[in-house]
Amino acid sequence: MSAVLDPSAVPADLVALTRSLGERSREQAILAEGNTSYRLDDERIVVKTSGSNLGRATADDFVVVDNAPLVDLLHDPAATQADLTAALDAGEHEGRRVRASIETLVHIAVQAVAPASWVAHTHPTAVVGLLASVQAETIFAEAVYSDEAVVLATPLFVPYAEPGLALGKLVHDGLRRRFDETGELPRLVLLANHGIVAIAESAPGADGICEMAVKSATVRHIALTAGGLQPVPRDSLAKFVLRSEVSERRQRLGRGT
Ligand SMILES: [Zn+2]
Repeated sequence: MSAVLDPSAVPADLVALTRSLGERSREQAILAEGNTSYRLDDERIVVKTSGSNLGRATADDFVVVDNAPLVDLLHDPAATQADLTAALDAGEHEGRRVRASIETLVHIAVQAVAPASWVAHTHPTAVVGLLASVQAETIFAEAVYSDEAVVLATPLFVPYAEPGLALGKLVHDGLRRRFDETGELPRLVLLANHGIVAIAESAPGADGICEMAVKSATVRHIALTAGGLQPVPRDSLAKFVLRSEVSERRQRLGRGT
């Protein structure tokens, strides 16, 4: 079995991040959608279970999964959704079946490309609205205010795929391409008709990316109703992001220190 229930392995910061993202007023998730994970070491992550609510999460709502068998599924053209479901099963506990989230492969896809400590996936209403629009692919491509360039850098857009194996594979392909091009993982992944994935080296870093993504979406909604988007001029933005105090701030925000 590659998933086990072990509440003692769940960091308090992961529970706190999860509950914070589940606060109803933040509109990151309204029911049991969304999931979070923390990288324990090179071989394992702790990830939220299927069906549990972000806002009420406790250490019992996470399981420890081994990365290797799930990375194998990402690379196996013959793998099926049933194989994935079996690999996520952590057995029966107190009369209930415990399973890692069906979206665990999104978290595994990150680790398969480059190690990252914190991954948070949510379905923010304001962002999903734009990712469900005809402009989904391009609307976040250029920064429209400087803070988003600092915190979100260049988001990665991933076309729609069915949650589970298909989505995991598509996210993996996108992350791999980006990493090969730039040597870095993106901070924010935009999932068409679905939601977002924040990748960070600290819990506050992941939380901040989710929060800034909502602001970025809201700014775009407003700009569109005012006649259309006007991106920050590219060369001025590039100079701004490279300024030493801004690059320090960016590092700080990414690490949440
Ligand atoms: Zn989702």
